[in-house]
Amino acid sequence: MSGNPRKRHDGTGTHRAGGASSSGPVPRHARTVIVGGGLAGVELATALADHGAEDVLLLEAGPGEDLAHIHMTHSRTHATELVFAPERDPHFHRSWRSEAPPHYTGISGLRRRLGGRSLYWHGVVLPLEDWALHPSDWPAEVVTALTAGTAGEPSWYDRVTADLTAWSGGRLWDAAQPGCAVFGGQEFLPLPRACRRLPGTDRWEAYTALDAWRGPDGRPAPPPGVSVRCDTEVLAVDVRAGRARGVLVRAADGTTATVAADTVVLCAATVESTRLAAHALATAGALRTPRLGGLADHLVQGFTVRLPAGPLPVPGSYHVPSDPALRSYLRMDVHPDGPGRALLDVRITGEQLPNQESVVECRPSGGASWRAHVRTALLPEDRKVIGAQRDLLRDFWTTAARELGVPAAPLVFTDFGDTDRDNTRVLPDRTRSQPEGRPETWTSLLGTEDHEGGSLPLGRLLEADHAFSALPGLHAAGPAVFPRLGAANPSLTTIALSRRLAGLLAGA
Ligand SMILES: Cc1cc2nc3c(=O)[nH]c(=O)nc-3n(C[C@H](O)[C@H](O)[C@H](O)COP(=O)(O)OP(=O)(O)OC[C@H]3O[C@@H](n4cnc5c(N)ncnc54)[C@H](O)[C@@H]3O)c2cc1C
Repeated sequence: MSGNPRKRHDGTGTHRAGGASSSGPVPRHARTVIVGGGLAGVELATALADHGAEDVLLLEAGPGEDLAHIHMTHSRTHATELVFAPERDPHFHRSWRSEAPPHYTGISGLRRRLGGRSLYWHGVVLPLEDWALHPSDWPAEVVTALTAGTAGEPSWYDRVTADLTAWSGGRLWDAAQPGCAVFGGQEFLPLPRACRRLPGTDRWEAYTALDAWRGPDGRPAPPPGVSVRCDTEVLAVDVRAGRARGVLVRAADGTTATVAADTVVLCAATVESTRLAAHALATAGALRTPRLGGLADHLVQGFTVRLPAGPLPVPGSYHVPSDPALRSYLRMDVHPDGPGRALLDVRITGEQLPNQESVVECRPSGGASWRAHVRTALLPEDRKVIGAQRDLLRDFWTTAARELGVPAAPLVFTDFGDTDRDNTRVLPDRTRSQPEGRPETWTSLLGTEDHEGGSLPLGRLLEADHAFSALPGLHAAGPAVFPRLGAANPSLTTIALSRRLAGLLAGA
């Protein structure tokens, strides 16, 4: 591999023709196998190609025929329904069984297709907060690489933010949205989103490294050095003599095969990567029970209210950076809602701390693939965050209502975990029927924010270079490797860490 990264094709550089294959039988050997072609996996493969890597094979369980973001293909209403009514999404797939229902049920699951959830996400790119990137939690060298840079290079956060800004057309928020807004007693900043619009329509897409893989015939055209096989599910890591030797797959035609590899990188999203890791570590004798803790999601709740548009801030997405005492940040979206009206959508996103009662556990079976079971629990500190978030939302709404001159109908929250008041409340056919001025509250069930992570932590289970300490040949990427989540949405950090890992694997 060469140590000289080639120019990224992120909208600012030249588009390389796809050079490697996306069809044919699954190769029996690859130098590097990436398991899962979602946000982390495609980013990693693309960055490895930028480093001149050869013989990278990306294996994706879902199909690769449609590489478009859901908000590019569907209207806002339909795309929102695909997310919140997943029975309407043919790609929705939950591979685990929840033992803490209703958490990790409902809309909690994979979007099994090449691109994964990078074809669903909203492009919100916030760096993890200093209080979350604490050296007692994260390896110091990872924190330095993310925030300060090393060897004269800018930090990964700065590099990725610059690329995503260029990809988005020069700015990370809508041109129509003024910078800041003071409202409800809060000073809001624009919410940075790596998105671009299809001019003259309501269609938009969020950044995905897959953008550069879209071949002229619509089929995946991976960069030179990378091959991809879709409809190919990795059942288990092939562990022999204390080392990961490759993976066992079920190919599109239903046959199983082993793919030998020098390096395997798990990018199959948090629960599935953790299932594969727990099975592999138990097989290697490095884990007595195939169970790994630390699984966390964000604690998110909010309210929607239909209001006259006049006195509200200009439509757009805003945020108030996180308060370390609250471990949460406040977000406000103002959506047009018919002539002279707007929908105010307010949410607060906070950190669930990792704990050893929140686990992914496999049940050993005679088969090649061990089923994952998920349990989750809140710590007393998490419950305090939930209470403090509710206080802040109430204060905000009382102040906002006063500023708007409307009666402040009380914000009523029910118990955490109430399925009648979960985040499917924001579905358009529900908000449409809300009486004007009456706020409806909701609280996300754990596992339904799509921000799950933390069960393969860097600096503990993994070395700072993403290698499993107890199993040579195996690495992981994605939010699973965050030692703690902070309050920020994960993907800026996921992209940064995938690019950093590519450099490490390439020896750059
Ligand atoms: C509607 C929505 C909005 C979001 N908005 C934001 C946002 O604004 N900002 C933000 O930071 N984050 C956002 N997210 C979260 C973000 O998309 C995820 O954190 C991110 O996609 C996780 O990346 P990943 O690569 O770990 O998993 P995924 O993107 O889910 O990719 C995992 C891939 O692995 C494949 N796979 C799984 N198991 C196997 C197997 N056994 N064999 C082979 N392949 C397998 C899956 O099919 C999938 O393609 C959003 C998510 C959703 C759904």
